[in-house]
Amino acid sequence: MGLFASRPNRTGHPEEQRDEGSLCGLVPVLQGNDPGWYHCPVPTEKPETPRTPEAPIPEFIPPMKVTPDMPCPCGSKKLVRECCLDADGNLRVKVPSLIPIAPSTGYAHPKCYLSHTLDCSDKISAEHYVSRSILEAMGEDVEVFGLPWQQKGTASKYGINSLVSNILCVRHNSAMSPLDALACQAFKTVKALSDDLSRQSDTSAVTWHLVSGEALELWCLKTLCGLYFSTVAAKDGNSLKPAYSLDVRAFEEAIGLRRLPPNCGLYGRLVTGQFNSQISWAPLIVDYATRLIGLRLRMCAAEFEVFLDPFNVNFDAVRTEATFRPWNLIFSDGKRMHVVVLSWPDKPQGDRRINYGIRPTLPPL
Ligand SMILES: [Zn+2]
Ligand SMILES: [Zn+2]
Repeated sequence: MGLFASRPNRTGHPEEQRDEGSLCGLVPVLQGNDPGWYHCPVPTEKPETPRTPEAPIPEFIPPMKVTPDMPCPCGSKKLVRECCLDADGNLRVKVPSLIPIAPSTGYAHPKCYLSHTLDCSDKISAEHYVSRSILEAMGEDVEVFGLPWQQKGTASKYGINSLVSNILCVRHNSAMSPLDALACQAFKTVKALSDDLSRQSDTSAVTWHLVSGEALELWCLKTLCGLYFSTVAAKDGNSLKPAYSLDVRAFEEAIGLRRLPPNCGLYGRLVTGQFNSQISWAPLIVDYATRLIGLRLRMCAAEFEVFLDPFNVNFDAVRTEATFRPWNLIFSDGKRMHVVVLSWPDKPQGDRRINYGIRPTLPPL
């Protein structure tokens, strides 16, 4: 399995000729001469054809029936009223504070990437570039491509414990740790329902799931920082860290004030063609400006682009094929349906849903 996936085939770069789902190098996504659709004034390529479901997914889906005394659909095993039922009557997964508990320490650890906040502890933590819980959900050893010290095109197996780097102090690391569990829940949910829909079945049940879109968005930005500051994010075998910049203050604002630059945040889109049940990611880069601006995350049939920095991004073009902070991801084989509700700080409004048609390829269990 690959930790790093290339962008989907759009430009026919040699690295992108491989089969979807195979291991790919860490291919930079936005380059100066790259006609990538989201940083051009007008999209230069037609969106790929969405996967066709066996039967259309109904436009109207009966609302989820929620009673305060039912088990919460977030999977916590608590009752709804003790868990995700918010004061406004909406279900919302609570994302706890992600900044260290006051008072601040006034100390800047030289190795911590949030040292400018003057709120570090004096110990540095061995932080995973990518959350340990998610690495564990992927398996014991992780095959990694595109690390700066590897020969181009080679993969190495790493034990989970080796994928660490000293980039956060203990205090900042533990303050942000709730994101890992919440993002892992989202990954496991999408993986389980993708596996379920890959198997043939005659049932037509609707299953509801609740995960935090807000936490997934922030986790992607934290992963972007991890890949960058650990010097793991690389292009052509060279780490991006020395030459490229990343707006760490925008990340700090996202974590502390839950505020992102205009139009930034998570966009969801369909993945076309075959998918495997893995997770992969690649930083979004504006090459000519030597900036990292976001992260592309692939989870089974779902793909997200999370922007931290709006630099040179044409968000009108982004919105032509992606949905900003979708509320509903609807996965269906035409009969069975899994509805993933992503919760956000705002209220559900507008048509913020994405339909994923999945054709079962495996026999029933
Ligand atoms: Zn809950
Ligand atoms: Zn710190």
